[in-house]
Amino acid sequence: MDKMSLCGMTADEIFRLIEPSGFTLSHAVSISNSIYKKRTSEISQITKIPRKLKDELAVIAGSGIFMPVASEVSVDETVKFLFRTETGKEFETVYIPDNKRHTVCVSAQSGCRMGCPFCVTARYGFRGNLSAGEIVNQIISLPDAGKVTHIVFMGMGEPMDNIDNVLKACEIITSEWGLAISPRNVTVSTVGITSGVEKFLKSSECNLTLSLHSPFNEERKRVVPVEKKYPAQKIIEIMKNYPVKKKRRFSLAYVMIKDLNDTDNHLEGLKALLKGSIIRINLLPYHPVGNDLNRSSTAERMQFFKHNLVISGISASVRKSRGIDISAACGLLATGLIN
Ligand code: SF4
Repeated sequence: MDKMSLCGMTADEIFRLIEPSGFTLSHAVSISNSIYKKRTSEISQITKIPRKLKDELAVIAGSGIFMPVASEVSVDETVKFLFRTETGKEFETVYIPDNKRHTVCVSAQSGCRMGCPFCVTARYGFRGNLSAGEIVNQIISLPDAGKVTHIVFMGMGEPMDNIDNVLKACEIITSEWGLAISPRNVTVSTVGITSGVEKFLKSSECNLTLSLHSPFNEERKRVVPVEKKYPAQKIIEIMKNYPVKKKRRFSLAYVMIKDLNDTDNHLEGLKALLKGSIIRINLLPYHPVGNDLNRSSTAERMQFFKHNLVISGISASVRKSRGIDISAACGLLATGLIN
C-alpha cells in the first residue's frame, strides 16, 4: 500500500484521518506544526502526540518531506534547487536572500504549457502539475527554511493552470497551523487565466501579479499566447474593481525588451491602462538565452519608464535580476533540464 504524505494535508484533513482512532483536533494541529514549522521528516520525531498515534500514523503515512537532488549557488547568494519526485517529475526552486527578506520562488508545475516564446520553461514542455505537498515541500525542505519570510509563485509553470493545488498550498503557507506566513508576503503570478484568477481572488488573501509584457492586445498575443483566449484587459478590470479596503496587493510584471516594448508608445499605453488604479508595476530586465537576438532595455531606459510612470501617479519599481549566472532569473528556469 502506498503511504499518504502528511506534507500537503491541512490540519482538518489530518484530523479526519486520526479521528476514528479517538485522537483530537489538537493532536492534528501538533502534527501539522511539526511537519510545517519544525520540518520533522520522521513520524517518530513528531512532538506533543502519544506514542500510540505515532505508531498508527507510521503505518499509513510518511512526512512527505523530500530533499532537493541538486543545488547551485550564485555569486549574489541566490540558490537554485532541483527537485525530483518518485515518479520522475523535475522542477526548480529559487531561494533569494536579501538582507532581512528571504524569498522562496516556488514552481507550480513541472514545465509549462502556456508557450510564452521568451521563456525557457515553455521549451521544456509540460511534464505535470505539482501537488500542494510538492509545492509546500519546496519551502520546508530548504536548508534555510527557518529564515523564509516571503513566497512568490514565479517558478516553473502557470499557477492558475493548477489552481486547486496552488490554493491548497497557499492555505498551508498562510495558516497558523501551517507555515504561518502572512498572505501579504505571498504573491502568485499569472499570465491571466481568467477563471483561475477569479477562483484565486475568492478563495485566498494572497497577492496577485499579472505578467503583462505589452499594453497592446495584438502585440501581447505574440509574447503571451494566452492573450488570445484571456485578454489581460479583463484581468486588469477585475483588479481595478476589487474592493480597495481589502488591502490586497495587485501588480503587473513588465519584462523590458530593447526597442520591442520599451518605446514611448508603450509607456503611454501603460499609463492609459493603469490610470486611476492602485495596481503597481514592476519593470524587469530581459534575459535572452541561446540565439535570441533580443536584448534587455538599458538601465537608463528602465529608470526613464519608472520615473514617468511614478510622476503620472502610478506606483512603479525597477527590479534587479538575481541569480543570472546560475540561470535562476525570471524566464530561465529549466535551463539545466533541457538537453
Ligand atoms: S512565462 Fe510563465 S506562463 Fe509563460 S511559459 Fe514561462 S512559466 Fe509558463
